[in-house]
Amino acid sequence: MKVITRKKAKILRLNKYFTGKPCKWGHIVERYTRDGNCLKCSYNRSIKWQVENSDKKRYHNNNYMRKNKEKYSKYNAVWRKENIEKRRETGEKWRRNNPDVVKEGKKKSYIKNKFTPLYTLRRVCRRVIISLSNNKSYSSKLYKLNYTPEEYISYLLDPLPQFKDIKSAYTENYHLDHIVPVSFVIKYIENKQLAFKISMDLENLRLIPKLENIRKHAKVGLPIVQETIVLLNTRYNVSMPLL
Ligand SMILES: [Zn+2]
Repeated sequence: MKVITRKKAKILRLNKYFTGKPCKWGHIVERYTRDGNCLKCSYNRSIKWQVENSDKKRYHNNNYMRKNKEKYSKYNAVWRKENIEKRRETGEKWRRNNPDVVKEGKKKSYIKNKFTPLYTLRRVCRRVIISLSNNKSYSSKLYKLNYTPEEYISYLLDPLPQFKDIKSAYTENYHLDHIVPVSFVIKYIENKQLAFKISMDLENLRLIPKLENIRKHAKVGLPIVQETIVLLNTRYNVSMPLL
């Protein structure tokens, strides 16, 4: 960083300057031209204020929001729609920085939901893919399906010749994607065994990079999903709706 005096920074109308010397707390960082305070100290002070006054701040914010509820709910809805990418990034960043909270939340939601059909179905699907990537011990669940482990493996890896097995695809952050989501299948198919078979139908599966998988949440409605719903409806003689 270029060393510059506060005086010179003022003349140049820079809002920050850098002396190269430590502040009284030993931070060697830029300072604000307006008050000569170091960035780190200013930041710490502002955090300290927010913590000490969090009640006050929360009250103020909530009160303001309540009074302007209509305006904000409209504004927020528009903002949310226009900033899907940004929200996702913020969420990802937060989860990265708060792994313990994430873990705790997962645990709670697991305990709460572990016997719901959706969770059960997701669990058995996961077990199958784990057993497929672990060539030696095929899950007993696999034998309830219409395909052999070898069929699954060769179908899934066919479009990805760079991987010699499913495990190496997983190592490269590829994940098993259900084209028609498990949550959708379980909504319309009451018979659990059938829902499992449909979810694990070869043509409902593909390996895709994890990032893409996360982005698919809004995907129901895409042509490939529609096509797959039609195919599965015919194959299993069911009638999941087209969205
Ligand atoms: Zn400082």
